[in-house]
Amino acid sequence: MLDNLKDAVRKFLGSSSYDKAVNDFIKELQISLIKSDVNVKLVSNLTQKIKERLEKEKPPTAIERREWFISIVYDELSKLFGGDVNPDVMPKKIPYVIMLVGVQGSGKTTTAGKLAYFYKKKGYKVGLVAADVYRPAAYDQLVQIGEQIKVPVYGEPGNIDAVGIAKRGVEKFLNEKTDIIIVDTAGRHGYGEEAKLLEEMKNMYDEIKPDEVMLVIDASIGQKAYDLAYRFHQASPIGSIIITKMDGTAKGGGALSAVAATGAIIKFIGTGEKIDELEVFNPKRFVSRILG
Ligand code: GDP
Repeated sequence: MLDNLKDAVRKFLGSSSYDKAVNDFIKELQISLIKSDVNVKLVSNLTQKIKERLEKEKPPTAIERREWFISIVYDELSKLFGGDVNPDVMPKKIPYVIMLVGVQGSGKTTTAGKLAYFYKKKGYKVGLVAADVYRPAAYDQLVQIGEQIKVPVYGEPGNIDAVGIAKRGVEKFLNEKTDIIIVDTAGRHGYGEEAKLLEEMKNMYDEIKPDEVMLVIDASIGQKAYDLAYRFHQASPIGSIIITKMDGTAKGGGALSAVAATGAIIKFIGTGEKIDELEVFNPKRFVSRILG
């Protein structure tokens, strides 16, 4: 994803004519972002902004203007992916209940395990609640992950009362003085059914009153993530977003920029199937990596 930008930077820094290099770089940047499924309007705003700054701001010296140009690109690209934020992923209180929502296949159950591992490594006592009743295998999957990372899992295989399971699971872990409780909820609906997904989320939310709701989105839906993230952001003031499968798609740039455009906070990205392949998302660090 956006891999050719490193080459574009190298070419830019090494070419002889500055003005031509700027134009070539901007063209490459546009192509690369559009290939990554970033919305055309966002791409056009971004290039407009870069060009405006090139005119308004003065480069330090002619010799340093290439680095100056790249720093403007870096700055504007960081804004495209969420700006100067370093999301606070630590619980604001103990106990802390996190409810995970998302459509089936987005990587919700895997991410529940990754989060449990992330917080366990930070020294918290963690519990997992398996309340994804629409996909029976989700329970076994979570139990397996729980065994692997030595985190207890609460579930009631065979029972389809997701809200009841979630309530009892949270209660049990609260009684056991668990610091962070992660509830994996049902996610049976496909993209395009955001309304139903959010309605279901609300029912569960009213019953278990989580401290934070995290929406899991598969990066491969690209800019289509906008609608889902927008509605979720409107519906859930305590919500944050995790974008999974950043490793497996060319469309990650589209998903990240679309979610950032809604004002929702992206807290983590999933970068593989393994338990430790979860990163705290930092737009500036992400851009540094793609620019090389
Ligand atoms: P759920 O239906 O939303 O609970 O989805 P699962 O957690 O079962 O994940 C669906 C598939 O996506 C599984 O094969 C996971 O291994 C895979 N998956 C989840 N997160 C990632 C990720 O960040 N990268 C990759 N490559 N695969 C992932």
